[in-house]
Amino acid sequence: MKSVKHWINGALADGDDRTAELFDPATGEVSGHVALASAADVDAAVAAAAAAFPAWRDASLTKRSQVLFRFRELMYAHRDELAALISSEHGKVHSDALGEVSRGLEVVEFACGIPHLLKGGFSEGVSTRVDSYSIRQPLGVVAGITPFNFPAMVPMWMYPIAIACGNTFVLKPSEKDPSASLLTARLWQEAGLPDGVFNVVQGDKAAVDRLLEHPDVRGVSFVGSTPIARYVYESGTAHGKRVQALGGAKNHMLVLPDADLDLVADSAVSAGFGSAGERCMAISVVLAVDPIGDELVQKIVDRVGRLVVGPGDDPKSQMGPLVTEAHRDKVASYLDLGVQEGAKLVVDGRETAVLGGGKAAGTPGFWLGPTVLDHVPPGSRTHTDEIFGPVLSIVRVGTYEEGLELINGGEYGNGTAIFTNDGGAARRFQNEVEVGMIGVNVPIPVPMAYYSFGGWKASLFGDTHVHGTEGVHFYTRGKVVTSRWLDPSHGGVNLGFPTNG
Ligand code: NAD
Repeated sequence: MKSVKHWINGALADGDDRTAELFDPATGEVSGHVALASAADVDAAVAAAAAAFPAWRDASLTKRSQVLFRFRELMYAHRDELAALISSEHGKVHSDALGEVSRGLEVVEFACGIPHLLKGGFSEGVSTRVDSYSIRQPLGVVAGITPFNFPAMVPMWMYPIAIACGNTFVLKPSEKDPSASLLTARLWQEAGLPDGVFNVVQGDKAAVDRLLEHPDVRGVSFVGSTPIARYVYESGTAHGKRVQALGGAKNHMLVLPDADLDLVADSAVSAGFGSAGERCMAISVVLAVDPIGDELVQKIVDRVGRLVVGPGDDPKSQMGPLVTEAHRDKVASYLDLGVQEGAKLVVDGRETAVLGGGKAAGTPGFWLGPTVLDHVPPGSRTHTDEIFGPVLSIVRVGTYEEGLELINGGEYGNGTAIFTNDGGAARRFQNEVEVGMIGVNVPIPVPMAYYSFGGWKASLFGDTHVHGTEGVHFYTRGKVVTSRWLDPSHGGVNLGFPTNG
């Protein structure tokens, strides 16, 4: 039985007595416990971060980037260990867990270039012998609150850039899969990061609420579901903090009749069922423009029938279990709901065979196989709710315009994709669609680290996306200096408003 603790000021910390159970999603068995921080535990982590801030802020850019380079190498060297930890608590298959580590490392690699990223502007001679220049400085203590579905990558959207910019960091990972955070903390220490610069508080709402109200926390990055993102944004900003809060999603793939249907079917199955659909950039709705619906559904069903579902640590598995029993039950409830709403259940994931077990519905562990619902009525809950599991809904539409209207009429605006061979249609789509991240014949258009990640509408509260230059902007504040050094041309007292001359 493992016991997952906090990491405060460079050491493991027990904290309060409150704990939550951890599960192995592949067996459903309890695998250990995670500490749940009290307000006092959060205060201890913030105090450590606040104490470490002045020296880290003053560490040279060279020193900071050298620590980041070493951290990158250590994370890379431990990627298998990290992926195994993720798989054991989240359930995703090992190769998928390795994929999230590698996408997270791209942000560390981006942050290694911090000396270049923090270069300011300089204007010589804005007035006679007066110069002006801009600098960006860290905020102080900043916090990251992250979801269960990417226990390594989503925190890596935040802390590499925050720390590179000279801030100190308190991470509050998901209590469902917390172990990756402690390995990360150990590797930061090994990389030479001073104690107190990176801290981890494990926990639930109590920890989040204390971070949101703590006067020494200057900025909060959040990724999770929309109701909590909205709450974190409102509470954090009411407490005077800078907040970026990324929320949920319901991503549509619009398939025009001229698209390559084999590419579309491969993409829909990969993006719908990778990580058991527990991705904020998963494709959960396919909008099939007439007349290709029947042919496309058949191609999708053929591919789904060949998917191998099994434990994340079995190399033959392509899709693992869901994260918890409660989540599996909620996702599975949409199969009956979909039928009640008028959809046709063409692949029933409760019937899927699990490697080493029986049918998903009767096998111990949090199993549900890939499910396909066809003819899902537009506007039904199966179409619009974020199900966040292996359920792919096919909605039939008559035209491009009808499909676009369904996407733009939705609550979320995280990701979307168009599949077509018509460049003009794709260009029109990228211009007209109200979504932050768009794929053209690419199903999961997650931006590279040097671009910024974020959606529109209920998928983002605040105006700054994560990582890329927007990340650097979020974790720094600007100053502009106007400077003159006395010289013989100094003209004496002048009470007039300073003007350029
Ligand atoms: P969640 O909102 O339940 O939890 C996210 C974080 O908030 C966790 O650290 C959790 O401990 C904390 N939390 C939960 N309830 C809280 C409460 N009442 N008060 C304060 N804090 C609370 O999300 P999840 O189930 O862990 O993750 C899945 C969700 O995250 C999905 O909706 C998914 O779309 C979203 N997500 C979005 C993105 C994105 O980039 N937009 C990326 C990944 C995941």
